[in-house]
Amino acid sequence: MTAVTAVEHTMPAVCEEPRLRSLNPATGDLVAELPLHTPAQVHDAVDQARRAAAYWSALNWRERRRALLRWAARLVRDADVLCELVHAENGKPAEDAYLELALALGHIRWSARHAGQAVAARRVSPGVLMANCQARVERHPLGVIGVIGPWNYPVNTPMGSITYALAAGNTVVFKPSEHTPAVAKFYVDAFAAANPTLPDGVLTAVFGEGGTGAALVASGADLIAFTGSAATGKKVMAAAAEQLTPVLMELGGKDPVIVAEDADVTAAAEAVAWGAMSNAGQTCIGVERVYVERPVAERFLTALRDELQGIRAGDAYGPMTVPDQIDVVRRHLTGALEAGGTALVGGLDALRPPYVDPVVLVDVPESHPAVREETFGPLVVVRTVDDAEEAVRLANGTRFGLGATVFSRRHGQAIARRLRCGTVSVNAMLAYAAIPALPFGGVGDSGFGRIHGLEGLLTFTRTQAIARRRFPVPGMTLPTFRRSPAAMRLLRTALTRIHGRAR
Ligand code: NAD
Repeated sequence: MTAVTAVEHTMPAVCEEPRLRSLNPATGDLVAELPLHTPAQVHDAVDQARRAAAYWSALNWRERRRALLRWAARLVRDADVLCELVHAENGKPAEDAYLELALALGHIRWSARHAGQAVAARRVSPGVLMANCQARVERHPLGVIGVIGPWNYPVNTPMGSITYALAAGNTVVFKPSEHTPAVAKFYVDAFAAANPTLPDGVLTAVFGEGGTGAALVASGADLIAFTGSAATGKKVMAAAAEQLTPVLMELGGKDPVIVAEDADVTAAAEAVAWGAMSNAGQTCIGVERVYVERPVAERFLTALRDELQGIRAGDAYGPMTVPDQIDVVRRHLTGALEAGGTALVGGLDALRPPYVDPVVLVDVPESHPAVREETFGPLVVVRTVDDAEEAVRLANGTRFGLGATVFSRRHGQAIARRLRCGTVSVNAMLAYAAIPALPFGGVGDSGFGRIHGLEGLLTFTRTQAIARRRFPVPGMTLPTFRRSPAAMRLLRTALTRIHGRAR
């Protein structure tokens, strides 16, 4: 079954409501036409999700686990159809889509299996003064989570919020990117199909452009989990502030790789080639900058050039998904060449819309936008540095701080710790992204909050602290208007004993 027929199959034949059309970025062909939801419909979806939350949150985590694992099994069964859809809407090769699905399945399984641990209540010590109390910390679902997603990893990226939110007992209203709505519809429908006894509204998709996302932000959802650009993230955060709606921000990056003088240079070159160019460079944690220590710089550049020999867009990876993105690559590339940069691989002829072949630039000034702004294309800038000290300083020199990679046989961990970012791989490319137990997220313009892992589950809960008096203490009148001198004397003695010595 082709991707297009798969979508048509799920759509009504005639409809007069406004439609959202998604196009194949390689051919321009129509992939899908879906309803374009109005703000009123988005609010209705949130209301329905709130009703469903009463049911879903009352299930225990094992019941939710079963529902999520049934969903995963269904996605495995229908993997080829889903991957063809990803290929059609996003442009990436179907095999890459399958790798993406593998990551998403890992998140469904991990979140489903660990939610019990995350939400388990725990007892804490009440301390000496309140020894007659029991103190507990409980975790409860927030309610309805609004998830807003991008197009570059249309399965795995939103799933990093959706499945953790569901596993923690929330319901979800999901606004996928306007460029990949059919992919989202496919897996949202798969959840309902795998769990026919659940009420409507546990997981719902609403479709549209930025306005639909804005309506979701204004809908009264209990948290907005946003993944997208820093520019949109700022708008979402400002709008969410109107109702004090909390936000999770998963934003862009300008991820660096450090190649130390004791690195396995061949492995580093292989990893940089793939990390920078796969998915046409449209990866939030894609490699955009490399800092290589002088003693191995020449060997590294030669190995990188060899590695990219014969790698072409439209073959090794797909087209740029969004035409506007080619303009950003063009601006960075032409600007960098004018500013004194040199193309080691590719050049202006790499731009063959909708394709962009690999580009490696050297000697681009650090102040140039090609080094400081997110390019989100198959373009990487390599700079030779004197030592690891300089590499760390320059790596930390942008406003972003999402991921990073270090290649060093002896000092990888030590260098990694000094990087101002949320996630680091040592001697491997993007390894953290394939480990669901590791929290994911950034600092600075890359956002805040965490998805994935235990921290990701906790993001979608609210903490409640409960202190329960177990028995009265005779004469303990401190928190009353009948406070006695004897109780105060007791307090003074206790404080002197507990805090009076500096040890
Ligand atoms: P984008 O910011 O243009 O759009 C993201 C989503 O926000 C889309 O669904 C869009 O319709 C919606 N939106 C637009 N305006 C809105 C508004 N005013 N209110 C609410 N929603 C609105 O980003 P994109 O081009 O879809 O995705 C690419 C960006 O996403 C890159 O910067 C990339 O680095 C980032 N990204 C980050 C991560 C991460 O986990 N940190 C993962 C993938 C992509």
